[in-house]
This record gives sequence, C-alpha cells and structure tokens, in this order.
Amino acid sequence: MFEVKQSIAIAKPWLGDAEAEAVTRAIRSGWVTQGPEVAAFEQEFAATVGAKYACAVSNCTTALHLALLAVGVQPNDEVITVSHSYIATANSIRYCGAIPVFVDIEPQTYNINPMLIENAISDRTRAILVVHQMGMPCDLKAILAIANHYHLPVIEDAACAIGSEILWDEQWEKIGKPHGDIACFSFHPRKVITTGDGGMITTANPEWNRLFHLWRQHSMDVSDTVRHGAKQVIFESYPMLGYNYRMTDLQAAVGREQLKRLPEIVSRRRFLAQQYSKKLSDLELKLPTEPRWAKSNWQSYCVRLPNQLDQRQLMQAMLDMGVATRRGIMCAHREPAYLKHFKAEQSLIESEQAQDSAILIPLYYQMTEAEQDYIVNILKTACQV
Ligand SMILES: *Cc1c(COP(=O)(O)O)cnc(C)c1O
Repeated sequence: MFEVKQSIAIAKPWLGDAEAEAVTRAIRSGWVTQGPEVAAFEQEFAATVGAKYACAVSNCTTALHLALLAVGVQPNDEVITVSHSYIATANSIRYCGAIPVFVDIEPQTYNINPMLIENAISDRTRAILVVHQMGMPCDLKAILAIANHYHLPVIEDAACAIGSEILWDEQWEKIGKPHGDIACFSFHPRKVITTGDGGMITTANPEWNRLFHLWRQHSMDVSDTVRHGAKQVIFESYPMLGYNYRMTDLQAAVGREQLKRLPEIVSRRRFLAQQYSKKLSDLELKLPTEPRWAKSNWQSYCVRLPNQLDQRQLMQAMLDMGVATRRGIMCAHREPAYLKHFKAEQSLIESEQAQDSAILIPLYYQMTEAEQDYIVNILKTACQV
C-alpha cells in the first residue's frame, strides 16, 4: 500500500482574486441585493448558452419551481421525471402540489430512458422534467419527439450542465438554449461554476421570462432599480402571488467572473475526464462514455463497480487514504420523504442499481496529475483484490 499523502476533496470551486474584487465592487457600490449586477449577469449568461432570455434566482430548486408554474403545473397534476437525481428535482414538483411520476434511467448515461416515457403518460400528465445528470446531456431529440406528439412542455434540469453541449442539426449547441421549453441551472459550489448559491432560468418565451422576473420578487410590478432611480414617487402593486427567490448583486458579481472562467474550467474538466478514462481503462470498472451527440462538462465522473467490489468498503478505503468519494446519485423514491408521494408504474431497477453500484471520484479544475495518479493507483489496488 501507499502512505496517505494527501487529502483530496470530491470537488473544489475555482474562485480567485477576480471574484473577491468583484464582490468588493458590489459592496462599495452600496447596492447589494438584486440590481445592476444581476441584470448584467443575466445578459452575459444568456449570451454564453445562446439563450434568448435568462432570469437569475436564488438557486436551481426555486428555478425549477418557477419553471413548473410557468408551464401551468397545478395541484394533482402529474410530472414525468426521474427518481435518480438530487432530491431537488422531485421536490420542485411537489412544491406545486403535483405528483412526480418516476421513469427509469439508461444505465450508460444515467439519464432518463426515452423509451419508457410514453408508458408513463396519463390524462393528468402536465409536463416532462428531464435531468442532464452529472452534466451529461440527456437524449433531447428523442424526448422532444414524444413531448411534441403529446403536446407536453419539456423542462430541463440543467443544474449540473453549464458548458455541456449537444449536437443539434449538425451543430454543437450549449445546453440551456434551451432545446426544450425552459432550462434551469445551479451555481451551488458542487457544480461547475458557483456564486455560493444561485440559479438561472433560460427560455425563448418572453411571457414566461416576464413572469419569472415578477415571481422572483413577490410579483412586485416595479423593480427596485426603477423605483430607486425614479424622480417621481411610485407606488408599486402586486398583481399575483409571488415569492422571494431573488439572487443578490454580491452573488451575481461573483457569477460574472465565474462565467469568464467557464471555457477554461470545462476544457480542463474534459481533459481530466479523458485522463481518467485512459488511466482506468484496463480495470474492471465500467467507465462513463459520451453518446456521439453529446459533450459533457464532466460535473462528476462516475464509475460503476463490478459485483465483487463493495461500494461502502471501497469508499471507506479511499477515505482512509485521504480521498473523498460519493456514492451513485440518490433515488428520491427510496427516501422517507417520498413514501406515498410519487407514482411509478414501472420498475426503477436501473436507478437503484446505479445508486448502489456507482461511485463518484474527485474531479476539479485545480486537480494535478499527481493527485489524479494517486486516486488511480488506489482504485487499481482496490480492483485487484
Ligand atoms: C444540485 C442540483 C439541484 C439543486 O440545485 P440548487 O441550486 O442547490 O437548488 C437540482 N437538480 C440537480 C440535478 C442537481 O444536481
């Protein structure tokens, strides 16, 4: 065995002086909550992913909630989605009083299996909420064909997928254009770029975009910036129910700097993922691969263990060597909070097996070759036993 040489985190945000200066700029400006930095961040984000409109919100969970409301999801409606995702995906459906209908995943991509969607559609289905899991684009072409046939809106949970790309009419396009009706992003530190916490909603629909901007601020019909700059007294009003889902200018100032780093972050992550795939290729692990039409941002690198390797034991052995890992993506339907709160008329066996037999290994922009080799060597030793 080797000596424990280092402590390697599962993920690390890449934040530097530029972010520190940006947040200082916002503080010195005297304007700290949703204001000019948020507006600029929205524009720059929309340009980055090729979206017509973008609306910044407090996180991706609130983004998903507003997206579902915009497409008209109401209490007792059904929304088709996956169980195999961070619990926020299914929770956002329940915030609307609606019922998540879980469909199984494809074992290779960890994304919704398009072949299983049609069977899950009922009279009460109001929307399809798909996830680009771990940054790997899901099969949007196949999903949209079904959705269009049944006139169902498609919301993309792109929490992990900033910078990921999909081949669309012979061109590589960014996830978030969006190819469905609405896409939602997260800036949690576990994702590819971060604002501490934060989210973004993109769409090509001007009416929905207007609603997102209203709803995130209790539907107040005059923005703070307009009121602040007005020469005349303005009384605002609240035409409908809204929420406090605002992003702050402190966060947006950081986000604008993070966007500048995005190309470099994604290209480094792609390089590191490629290195993992090379260095682990002769082991008995099942490694992630991209479909021909997808380029991941490698938000996570997920390996499938062979039967004889115990997931928890391996994770503990790696932790003992100073390397943090995570088990496969959770399944919401197995959590107590979901006991009677979902519908699944199909088997979710692939979702369960993915949770039980996969592990996520460290991957971050700053990872050195030595760190990566250290992780690879531990996995090699573990796979020999
Ligand atoms: C992280 C994550 C979310 C939630 O994002 P927050 O910004 O933390 O609310 C939603 N869906 C998926 C797939 C995620 O990975």
